[in-house]
Amino acid sequence: MNPFAYHDGVLHGEALSLADVAAEFGTPCWVYSRAALESALAEFHAALHGVDALVCYAVKANSNLAVLDVLARRAAGFDIVSGGELQRVLAVGAQPDRIVFSGVGKTADEMAAALTAGILCFNVESAAELERLDTVAGHLGKTAPVSLRVNPDVDARTHPYISTGLKENKFGVAYAEARQLYRQADRLANVSVHGIDCHIGSQLLDPAPFAEALDKVLLLVDQLATDGIALQHVDLGGGLGIRYRDESEPSIADYLQPLLARLAGRKLRVLLEPGRRLVGNAGLLLTRVEYLKPGAAKNFAIVDAAMNDLARPALYGSWHDIVPVTPRAEATAIWEIVGPVCESGDFLGHQRALALAPGDLLAVLSAGAYGMAMSSNYNSRPRAAEVMLDGAQAHLVRRRETIGELYAGEQHLP
Ligand SMILES: *Cc1c(COP(=O)(O)O)cnc(C)c1O
Repeated sequence: MNPFAYHDGVLHGEALSLADVAAEFGTPCWVYSRAALESALAEFHAALHGVDALVCYAVKANSNLAVLDVLARRAAGFDIVSGGELQRVLAVGAQPDRIVFSGVGKTADEMAAALTAGILCFNVESAAELERLDTVAGHLGKTAPVSLRVNPDVDARTHPYISTGLKENKFGVAYAEARQLYRQADRLANVSVHGIDCHIGSQLLDPAPFAEALDKVLLLVDQLATDGIALQHVDLGGGLGIRYRDESEPSIADYLQPLLARLAGRKLRVLLEPGRRLVGNAGLLLTRVEYLKPGAAKNFAIVDAAMNDLARPALYGSWHDIVPVTPRAEATAIWEIVGPVCESGDFLGHQRALALAPGDLLAVLSAGAYGMAMSSNYNSRPRAAEVMLDGAQAHLVRRRETIGELYAGEQHLP
């Protein structure tokens, strides 16, 4: 569902005017829709109806406590990549046995915290990590449940957005070495082999590479069975893409259908780790036009949000639709939408046809995933406020940072 639509010439989120939201909370401001979050999760649960499955939201996409809380209340699990994310999900009361821990660089402290909490599974990415986990678990007198994250080396040529499932990536255990490492894991005293994991990349719009990866994973599952290693679950990672511009976005059921078909008849629990697909189109970034600077070569609209808020355009050249909160009838011009940060790469959008005046509010769409989560304080800019819409109510779920907070941890020399 799209919670953002025009009513009476003003862009609304759920039942609220975004002009009113901006007036109340200021700009720049992240705005999320509870209904959109719940509906995206419900779409996963509906597609998985009757399947032994757990949807583990990839916390890194948007780790605001209110977002985690909304999803935890609807029985989501969580995929974490740090001790900080573990604390966040525990803080909203998530059940530890619904948490999986991914990432290539888990520290001993992070492992200990996750073992103490009693998480569902560690997605182990290397032999060295496996060894460390065995040691840490031994010290604590615990057994660590593990999956190995296997790198299926899925051909990226036909799927240019796959970026983490190839041999040359830092992620996962090489496919050819996985069977051997499983045998090693099986012999470790403080580790218990539970499953297998893969995550082949992000913003995938075609189910084919998922299916290709799963075929390779299932081949390994069968080989391991002949080695006497029976796996309980398959974690297929995240990566389901969303519509940013004009991409056609398959339904979640369409994505999952080829996977579920392959898994039918097997006694394997299915784990998924969607991030972007759950939150991306549930959020936007509200910003106000500070100055218009028309020029001979280009027209610049300088807005109060910048690359420190939304890094994706500067970082990946990503497209985000940018729309007026209150569209004007005047003729449009072509604008570069840029922020105040002192970098030529500080842009939110190139060549946008808009009718603009100073003070206008703009909404940068599809900003719920990898937006606030990747923001920084570059140029000593306080991080923006975050607001969760819930029907006719707007809740401030993170207040705007103050300038003082920016250097609160710093000190002068004595
Ligand atoms: C980033 C990541 C995800 C989520 O990716 P999306 O593209 O946001 O769905 C899931 N699993 C792992 C291991 C990741 O690194």
